[in-house]
Amino acid sequence: MIDYTPKAHDAISTLEGVLRASDALKTMPYFEGVDADLMAQILNEAAKFVASNISGLNRSGDEEGCAFDDGKVITPHGFRPAYQAFYRAGWAALSAAPEDGGQGLPLVLEFMLYEWLSGANHAWTMSPGLLHGAYETIKHHASAELQAHYLPKIASGEWLATMCITEAHAGSDLGLLQTKAIKAEDGSSYHISGTKIFISGGEHDLSDNIVHLVLARLPQAPAGTKGLSLFLVPKFNPDGQRSRVHCERIEDKMGIHGSPTCVMRFDQAQGWLIGEENKGLNAMFLMMNAARLHVALQGIGLLDSALQKSAAYASERRQFKAIQPAQAGLSTTSNGPSLIIEHPAIQKILNKNQALIQCFRVLAYKTAIELDFAKHHPEPARRRRALDWANLVTPILKASCTQYAFDGISECLQVFGGHGYIREWGIEQHLRDCRIAMIYEGTNEIQAIDLMMRKILPDQGHTLETVLNDLLKELQGHELTPQIKTVFDKIEAITQTCVRVSLEAGGHYQLNWIMPEYLKLLTVGLLAWSAAAQVNARQAQSQAQWLTFVHWCLPEFDKNFATITHYLKVPV
Ligand SMILES: Cc1cc2nc3c(=O)[nH]c(=O)nc-3n(C[C@H](O)[C@H](O)[C@H](O)COP(=O)(O)OP(=O)(O)OC[C@H]3O[C@@H](n4cnc5c(N)ncnc54)[C@H](O)[C@@H]3O)c2cc1C
Repeated sequence: MIDYTPKAHDAISTLEGVLRASDALKTMPYFEGVDADLMAQILNEAAKFVASNISGLNRSGDEEGCAFDDGKVITPHGFRPAYQAFYRAGWAALSAAPEDGGQGLPLVLEFMLYEWLSGANHAWTMSPGLLHGAYETIKHHASAELQAHYLPKIASGEWLATMCITEAHAGSDLGLLQTKAIKAEDGSSYHISGTKIFISGGEHDLSDNIVHLVLARLPQAPAGTKGLSLFLVPKFNPDGQRSRVHCERIEDKMGIHGSPTCVMRFDQAQGWLIGEENKGLNAMFLMMNAARLHVALQGIGLLDSALQKSAAYASERRQFKAIQPAQAGLSTTSNGPSLIIEHPAIQKILNKNQALIQCFRVLAYKTAIELDFAKHHPEPARRRRALDWANLVTPILKASCTQYAFDGISECLQVFGGHGYIREWGIEQHLRDCRIAMIYEGTNEIQAIDLMMRKILPDQGHTLETVLNDLLKELQGHELTPQIKTVFDKIEAITQTCVRVSLEAGGHYQLNWIMPEYLKLLTVGLLAWSAAAQVNARQAQSQAQWLTFVHWCLPEFDKNFATITHYLKVPV
């Protein structure tokens, strides 16, 4: 079994060769002093840290799992020292603002780091993976007093954070949440009571304090999501007292065994309001969107890890003589069986998944750069465009990176034949670990609904149209522009059909049948753009990647297009 090793060189070439990241970042005075050399240096160090401190704990963490002992959670051997080393080395603080103790570096570096961490050890990465969202939520919505106490600790990663949303009867439907909040006598804090389930990192020994961000309902609050407020509930209160939040048990589950999934009981625990009363979901969305992009990165990292393993296996395992391209019969070039990597069926799996990883990376890293534009660009119009991009692609990336990762990892397991099903090779763990990514942070079905209902229909597809036009402009006379334009035209046509259907009686019901396919259609369109963007002089493999993409992914576009038109029963 091989441990995952991030390939910093490939990442740097994507960043500079395809996305011209350092040129983009130069347009923002905030990143004065950040150049390609600095980013390469950081990425090389990050890759070393991941390979030498985190990858090696993946298998042992899976086998050992977390232990529960009377309210305490003990993470697998090596997890705490690795976490302490991680935050002390400043890796948790990469993109946080310098005034909060962060390093003020581009978000794209953090994205790459978290992709690699997830590929190396999904379970370990679960806890720090929530830091960025918690930091943003506290920074933008919490009072100055709360910020003074919590922000530096969250920015540095000295304390970890959780997202406490789910309850036994309320999963996707947040309007059903029942956890209660009552204003305390001190007039500034609240008593939080209720039970949250499935809370990742609700209790553990990685950090000395845990900061829970909890959605709860005040008395007299309106029903549904409009009556939710967000509270900060620490494990240890500012006076050092252990708070009244308890872990009742941890779940026994299919994968990510090294990540404790906790049932958390809030027993009149002291909490402090973040943002305004009844506007909790608005504040929590900041954390949820960050977490959704983090989950997308989990998909990319895990698929890359599985691909590394299967490519190595396929380069050693021999079965049959491979048929050579120029010959109709069996190869006679060498005696004995060929490496299985020479068989087209195996090559197809490896090439397709390599192309997918590369194309998704471009989209994910572009999103990180856009999020920095949204925050730091001097021109308001550019900030707005950047935010539009991020809002639109977040559900697409969350759902698609995780779905393609699961499918791709299953194919990578296939490369091992029966050996893939055996624990020894480590590939079955990836398949088990990866499965949850399609479920949490809003299931993939909920992402498809979010895309249609919140990102497309409210402005009749106008934002999407602008985004697609901008992408075409970025290709600037590229040889593949006509092909991409054809794909985008079809997307726009079907989007307008969806808008029309939504206005008809029963239209929303009809649309609900095709939302997942619509999300896939947009995914393949964006992947096509991403593949085309890589076809340039600097990327020697890019032409092959484009061809792989055309052969194996564009038919998926046509399939989803056909499904949508069939279900909507309208001409497009
Ligand atoms: C390992 C793990 C870690 C987790 N970590 C956290 C965490 O840290 N914090 C937290 O708050 N939660 C966490 N969760 C909870 C997770 O976010 C929920 O499980 C998820 O949101 C789905 O909720 P549910 O399980 O209740 O499924 P349900 O909401 O009951 O959904 C069941 C099925 O119905 C589908 N469905 C529901 N509504 C619709 C609809 N309108 N249209 C189409 N399909 C629909 C869903 O997509 C799903 O397939 C975690 C869960 C697990 C297993």
